[in-house]
Amino acid sequence: MRYPKLRELIEAIKALVKGPYTTKYPYKPHKPAERFRGKPEYSNEGCIGCSACALVCPARAIEIRDVVVKGKATRKMVLHLDECHYCGQCSALCTTKEDAPPGIKHTAEFDLAGFDRSQMVSTTDEKELALCEICGDVITTKAHLEWISRRLGPLAFSNPTLFISSLKEMKFASEVSQIAKEDLLRSDRIKVLCAKCRRRATIERF
Ligand code: SF4
Ligand code: SF4
Repeated sequence: MRYPKLRELIEAIKALVKGPYTTKYPYKPHKPAERFRGKPEYSNEGCIGCSACALVCPARAIEIRDVVVKGKATRKMVLHLDECHYCGQCSALCTTKEDAPPGIKHTAEFDLAGFDRSQMVSTTDEKELALCEICGDVITTKAHLEWISRRLGPLAFSNPTLFISSLKEMKFASEVSQIAKEDLLRSDRIKVLCAKCRRRATIERF
């Protein structure tokens, strides 16, 4: 019992000389440590809307807001700060974490209290979605497909979804109208397809 008392006394004497360990916040601005995990913020430029951050978030604080209506298919990532644990998984496992800028990163901002929860969000712009040319299901964002193609280089030409998306981006291929599932042919493999329709076109129509 004597040792802890002695240690506390030493700490008290040190504090008298060095000053307190605590800061004077809110009376004086507080500068967090360099690696402090404050408000996570998306970068519109760096985020490709792949949704990996939402899948790894243990608090399920990230919403994938997909809107698919006629003539409009977009995705917006919405991070609810009032549900966030500030654990850092989203930034540590972000697909574009090695890019400049990365898709998401923690800022030093910590004073996030407010009265309106709907305002406590960090969001991206709307990103255009790539839809399956057979069933119309969401594949991912066009930016995500472009990012994969860039990473793969010439290897991207082994995947019809990737190379046709690139051709469309360069205006060398046009959008095709959706066909009925029952009219699916093996030749339809050379289309932008979701995994389910690609499997059907490759195996069932063999
Ligand atoms: S690029 Fe990063 S921040 Fe953007 S959706 Fe993917 S994992 Fe999340
Ligand atoms: S910091 Fe953690 S809890 Fe917050 S959004 Fe990222 S992964 Fe989810």
